[in-house]
Amino acid sequence: MKQMIDRLFQNQDLSDLELVDLINNLDDDSMDYLFKKADERRQNVYGKDVYMRGLIEFTNFCKNDCTYCGIRRSNKLADRYRLSIDEILECCEVGYELGYRTFVLQGGEDSQYTDEDIVSMIKRIKEKYKDIAITLSIGEKPYASYQKYYDAGADRYLLRHETSARGLYEKLHPKMSYDERIQCLYDLKKIGYQIGAGFMVGLPDQTTEDLVSDLRFLKELQPQMVGIGPFIPHKDTPLANEIGGDLRMTTILLAIIRLMLPGVLLPATTALGSISPQGREKGLKAGANVVMPNLSPTTVRDKYLLYDGKICTGDEAAHCRGCIEKRINSSGFQVNMSRGDHVDFLNQ
Ligand code: SAH
Repeated sequence: MKQMIDRLFQNQDLSDLELVDLINNLDDDSMDYLFKKADERRQNVYGKDVYMRGLIEFTNFCKNDCTYCGIRRSNKLADRYRLSIDEILECCEVGYELGYRTFVLQGGEDSQYTDEDIVSMIKRIKEKYKDIAITLSIGEKPYASYQKYYDAGADRYLLRHETSARGLYEKLHPKMSYDERIQCLYDLKKIGYQIGAGFMVGLPDQTTEDLVSDLRFLKELQPQMVGIGPFIPHKDTPLANEIGGDLRMTTILLAIIRLMLPGVLLPATTALGSISPQGREKGLKAGANVVMPNLSPTTVRDKYLLYDGKICTGDEAAHCRGCIEKRINSSGFQVNMSRGDHVDFLNQ
């Protein structure tokens, strides 16, 4: 196992069969070694820095019906909200004061916001703050819309591919198309965004081979960011009674991603922190180097519920910043508040 991990470290790749073997047969000793090598690789590129992104969840209206997601259209129990552009700017103001230089604007696919609204939101934020990056995470849009947002000043775009197992993708996403989602990622890349893809771990019926196919897809796409986290059931969805993803598998995959894509910006996600009290710290030790504290107003925090048991839903932005900083420092890392753009790693 250790030899295989060394080869993965050296070559930034293994065959699909070897990856399956690694994931399925990793004993605790080799797992620690895998985390150590992932940590070493992250340090080669980014040192001990952990990049902070301020997350603004600005709408939980969504036209899609993803079977795992708590804000799916069919969930009549979801308490819906949307923030005005002024309210979004207020979140940025609080965030900027706290030192954030990246704002992630995330939401359901809410057609109430026209392209003009999104463009005006981006322009107003960028006019006010010259030294920040804007990351959008608002789902699938036509090429022309992505282009407009980019021209208005958006820098990055997060669009997880969710799973690269086509059959599973289609089952989880009624009326959506796997090919269209993948096309969106290539469109975003072509336009010039720093892009983020990613997937959920522990989805119902997901196999190790499916996860390896996710890794293979990432290796081909070469995104600057990768977001992965455990699937966590939400009580008011069709997947309410399924078993969610676990900490061990998620951290193993984080480490493998760090070794396959050394320069990637890789969050220790809120979902990971939600399934285990030290989840984000363990993610950082396995090679992650980004955290995304919440900047949404406390009045709407507990409404953006994609899954049950989400942490930090009651805290003020300043509290989140302080809490996560302590956790980062006590894990032996240091907070980096800069824009934190992607760094190319030779041979990646
Ligand atoms: N509408 C945007 C943002 C989606 S929400 C988009 O389409 O990209 C952000 C991410 O939360 C999703 O990409 C999905 O991977 C994750 N998510 C949703 N429901 C989840 C659940 N039940 N458990 C874990 N992660 C979930």
